[in-house]
Amino acid sequence: MTCPLCSSSELKNLGDFKGHKKLTIEFYLCKICQLLFKDPSLRLALEQEKHRYETHNNDLTNSNYMGYMEKSWKLILGQLDLSKSSEIQILDYGCGPTQAFEYFGKKSEVQIDSYDPLFFPKLDEFKPYDGIVMHESFEHFYQPGQELATACRSLKPDSQLWIHTQIYTDDTDLNTWSYTRDPTHVVFLTDFCLEWIRKNFKFSKVVTLKSDFFALIKKAK
Ligand SMILES: [Zn+2]
Repeated sequence: MTCPLCSSSELKNLGDFKGHKKLTIEFYLCKICQLLFKDPSLRLALEQEKHRYETHNNDLTNSNYMGYMEKSWKLILGQLDLSKSSEIQILDYGCGPTQAFEYFGKKSEVQIDSYDPLFFPKLDEFKPYDGIVMHESFEHFYQPGQELATACRSLKPDSQLWIHTQIYTDDTDLNTWSYTRDPTHVVFLTDFCLEWIRKNFKFSKVVTLKSDFFALIKKAK
């Protein structure tokens, strides 16, 4: 087995922890990039995974969900120079079935494309973006290294990657952390891993927008 982010085989087996429905989850921590990930054999089949997303009830008419997404959208807007908003191109990477940011983008005159391998699989890999947002999608990536590489190829020299995901810390108890109970959540960032991504994907700095939302900033040389 190798790390799904950096491909290292230097892994620490953290042992078995409680999952949902009395399931046992085995976790691994990569010794090189410090990504935490679940035993890959626990991953859902594609149809099961899709079905689970469809039962989330995250649609444009759900005011709780849209209020939550709007807060994130405002944090993204705060990172942008809106003087030429109509020229800003953003990709919502792993948007799920809803395309919520595309909805907010239209209201702000920011151009947003939505991509999701299960629901909106068309991705123009040659289109350059000013920003890419992975909003609660990173933790679902079976191959986070490949997903980040794909996304970063589409970033302009001056651009940002926003990742919204919860961070695993030394204080996290894997027996009670609700974030790992979702069977579609398979990989988890640590602070070290975020810094590893910054360095290895050539970002100049990480800005913490809130405890689970980060902007990785790319600057033209
Ligand atoms: Zn690794």
